[in-house]
Amino acid sequence: MSVSLPESQGQKAGQWGRAWEVSGVTTLSTFLIITTTPLMVFYFFIACTHYGGSLTAPLIGLWSGEITLATLWSQVPALSLDAFAIFGVWFLFQLVSYLFLPDVLHYFLPHYKGGTHLGSITPAGNRLSYQINGLQAWCLSHVVFFTCAWYFNLFSPTIIFDNWGGLLWVTNIFGNILALFVYIKANYFPTNQEDRKYSGNLLYDYYMGIEFNPRIKNFDFKLFFNGRPGIVAWTLINLSFMAAQYSMYGTITNSMILINILHAIYVLDFFWNEAWYLNTIDICHEHFGWMLSWGDSVWLPYMYTLQGLYLVYNPVEISTGYTLAILTLGVIGYWIFRSANSQKDLFRKSDGNTLIWRKKPEIIECEYLSADGKMRPSKLLVSGWWGVARHFNYTGDLMGCLAYGLACGFDHFIPYFYLVYMTILLVHRCIRDEHRMRYKYGQAWQEYCRRVPYRLIPGIF
Ligand code: NDP
Repeated sequence: MSVSLPESQGQKAGQWGRAWEVSGVTTLSTFLIITTTPLMVFYFFIACTHYGGSLTAPLIGLWSGEITLATLWSQVPALSLDAFAIFGVWFLFQLVSYLFLPDVLHYFLPHYKGGTHLGSITPAGNRLSYQINGLQAWCLSHVVFFTCAWYFNLFSPTIIFDNWGGLLWVTNIFGNILALFVYIKANYFPTNQEDRKYSGNLLYDYYMGIEFNPRIKNFDFKLFFNGRPGIVAWTLINLSFMAAQYSMYGTITNSMILINILHAIYVLDFFWNEAWYLNTIDICHEHFGWMLSWGDSVWLPYMYTLQGLYLVYNPVEISTGYTLAILTLGVIGYWIFRSANSQKDLFRKSDGNTLIWRKKPEIIECEYLSADGKMRPSKLLVSGWWGVARHFNYTGDLMGCLAYGLACGFDHFIPYFYLVYMTILLVHRCIRDEHRMRYKYGQAWQEYCRRVPYRLIPGIF
């Protein structure tokens, strides 16, 4: 099956990156996101630390007059010098690891694909190279943390939990400074003039970003901030929560162990497949603005680890059968997520010359117009998971998110927040991506949608 399309039939040059026209509603939503999401993270933190994980208790307290806004304000954590020091050391450690750690792991793990990799062609026709060494950074960070905490007793393993409130301030300050910096950089000293996009709306540009791949020499902002300080910390944050649970109750609940295992699978998978990450929407289509600067610095480390924090204050013990059922759900979800992503990755790398589910894949040939005015050939995969639904990788991801929530029981909403957030994010992403794909591939995309009519769940959506 071959569908190729000239520009007149629907493709438009420059329809890359974020493709929306900015309406008044978008501007208002952008303003609301920038102003309310930081408050939301503080609110969730206080709900866990002072209200037993209940999101409604503070509101009911305010409504009934049991507490006042002053009470809530007094529960906001304090900014501390210790938190600044911890963040500074962590950030520098990750920065040095990112820039200088050599690719040695492949000597021990022959299937690990570290080293130099090329990214996708950017809209302006550039192809950037990346140094992949995240797995090394993750291993080294954990070895150093364990050695300092348990062998040299330099600090308590609960250090992250103990300073979690202070760090919330520091990461917020850092995320906002970073957003301002990349905005100024995009305007005055961009890495690549052509790989910038302005919407004509200052707030929206600040929020979504202007530069596509901001860099300073070899330092790539998007790969580093999306994939290092927050994600490497994710498993350490969980471990610190586990240590805190032990120090508070003298025991570690099976739900806490389960959350640590399920999250660790996701994090390790990310680093094992870091080269694959270069071909995801995050790297290929997102600009770097407030959304990623603040999101990587605050939202990811705080909201993705909420289940662990919740379990420190609500130690939930679950039955063995239930534990196994959730583990199975999480592992199947992960397997779908990984195998779908790997199928597309393999398909792209081999230019379609591969086997999917042991068969030659069905392909839709297409081409698209890049911003430099050249037509470039491409292909769409219609086999494997990509023939089941157009984003079945998201479905696998969401099954994992459901498992994280279920592991924490049913007393409160907080453990399920991640599932709700990811559902909104991934459904919105489906729509955004498909909007872009329709412009990019024109009739070929329509043909794909005809052959694979559902996005996430066959027969339903
Ligand atoms: P995808 O991996 O689904 O990538 C979408 C891109 O793949 C499209 O833009 C298109 O790119 C290409 N594509 C789409 N359909 C086809 C097809 N049939 N054949 C060939 N190429 C196709 O999306 P993401 O990058 O968003 O997600 C990657 C993973 O990361 C997912 O599993 C997701 O669940 C996960 N994720 C996790 C998040 C988190 O915070 N935990 C956040 C976001 C994602 P092109 O223009 O190159 O053709």
